[in-house]
Amino acid sequence: MSPTILVVEDEPEIRHFLRSSLGAEGYRVVESPNGRRGEVDAGMHKPDLAIVDLGLPDFDGIQVIRHIREWSTMPIIVLSARIQERSKIDALDSGADDYITKPFGVGELLARVRVALRHAAQPPAGKELSFGEVQINFEARRATRDGEEIHFTAIEFRLLACLAKHLGMVVTHRQLLQEVWGPTHAQDTHYLRVYMKQLRDKLEPDPVRPRYLLTETGVGYRLVADD
Ligand code: CA
Repeated sequence: MSPTILVVEDEPEIRHFLRSSLGAEGYRVVESPNGRRGEVDAGMHKPDLAIVDLGLPDFDGIQVIRHIREWSTMPIIVLSARIQERSKIDALDSGADDYITKPFGVGELLARVRVALRHAAQPPAGKELSFGEVQINFEARRATRDGEEIHFTAIEFRLLACLAKHLGMVVTHRQLLQEVWGPTHAQDTHYLRVYMKQLRDKLEPDPVRPRYLLTETGVGYRLVADD
């Protein structure tokens, strides 16, 4: 059965683009032109994933996300314009799983959708993860690179585990700081920079040009593994 995707977006051209791009991949698309309709359609169609625009005519996309999150864990991807940087982060902190910035291409759209659906079908809370020459066993808290044991500090390991839990998807600074350092450190983004550098030094073939531990400027970080 093909997954159903709810598209909450007021601009007809973007809706059309989403419908044809997603439809061509075999997804079933439900379109909602405003927030109120989006909430109704989410409840009525029980989609497998929602794409929610932040700038809607009746109310804020973040509100739609919060309402969906009250009853559903369906993956939600935010559509945002460049000027909505702050709202985009709020949307992610309010329960959205990932974002796409307008204008976007079909390749990026489909990649985000695939990762989010895969994640929902099978959360990568599993024991093992590998990328490049690196193999990590989260249960045993051990990792190797090219067969050589890598040593992590407790914080480094927690940070890596948090990113791996959202494999392929963005995790905001706030989410990482709260989960790894605790709620009183939600603003301490310099911790993240320091520890991300340490992780990259240990895991990346070229730490200055990371392939796996990616920076989402102003938003957070994303761990991607080989497909
Ligand atoms: Ca809009």
